[in-house]
Amino acid sequence: MNKIKFEYIWLDGYSPEQNLRSKTKILEMDSYDGDVSKLPIWAFDGSSTKQAEGHFSDLLIYPKRVYPDPARIDAYLVICEVYNPDGTPHVSNTRHKLEEDPDLWVGFEQEYVIMKDGLPLGFPENGFPAPQGPYYCAVGTGNVAGREFVEEHLDICLDAELNLSGINAEVMLGQWEYQVFAKGALKAADDLILSRYLLYRLSEEYDYIIDLHPKPVKGDWNGSGMHTNFSTKAMREIGGEKMMTEICEAFGKRHKEHMAVYGAYNEQRLTGKHETQSIDTFSYGVSDRGASIRIPASTGKTWKGHLEDRRPASNANPYLILAEIQKTLKTASF
Ligand code: MG
Repeated sequence: MNKIKFEYIWLDGYSPEQNLRSKTKILEMDSYDGDVSKLPIWAFDGSSTKQAEGHFSDLLIYPKRVYPDPARIDAYLVICEVYNPDGTPHVSNTRHKLEEDPDLWVGFEQEYVIMKDGLPLGFPENGFPAPQGPYYCAVGTGNVAGREFVEEHLDICLDAELNLSGINAEVMLGQWEYQVFAKGALKAADDLILSRYLLYRLSEEYDYIIDLHPKPVKGDWNGSGMHTNFSTKAMREIGGEKMMTEICEAFGKRHKEHMAVYGAYNEQRLTGKHETQSIDTFSYGVSDRGASIRIPASTGKTWKGHLEDRRPASNANPYLILAEIQKTLKTASF
């Protein structure tokens, strides 16, 4: 028998943003084949995570998806859902709100800022660096900060079998982005959650703080978003200008519902400046980076493919984003 480590990961009950929590379970097994159904339900103290009162605080965590853990020996990472003792989903269980849909393909563009000693990495102790302009996709000392950390996170994600499709330095110094793509609604959101978990865990080694605030530095500095690219089977295979337009129109009708779950403090980022549309306005357009929804040039050419929802903030919950997109797609009239 071998002792194998399983890191059970779940979202806590904090508001407006849920934090990631995790703890390690050791199981004795001859070997483990990656089958999530072989993992036991576990419990935790919900009173320490704002998920229960002290006198009746045991909550259950149900394993839902397993990944290899490249940073530990004989170890796995387990995305979980939180349930009440009676087997009903806990109110904080946002994953449960998302329907499985293998035909929904999703690419998240997760932006974040690396902080050190209370400042974005690369910012001088007093004042500001040179105005933004040279930092996006930059190379060279003074133009980028944190590359070693970013590269290591990329490698860990790939080793954990996440489909990261790219990374780049972003518009503000110390700000970075990675893109993660998956086929299937739940898989896409789980992968994004795991990529964040690995980001936070790695930050401990560098003594960095990962900041997902949508506007970490006030003023003429880009905020952080999480552009969400999505396509359904019909969008990829049938398409047409009419279908794409109808989908965009359907999104416009439910703008408020989307904004309600697209991340706290997002109004500080969606100002109409810095490649964003204002939070009070909905618009869409081909190749338009100032629109709420961008129809990528490739989609605008063939009218088949994906759309990019540019509204979600960097701190948004991917389960809630995709659940809202699912709801809106059902209202589109094609
Ligand atoms: Mg970006």
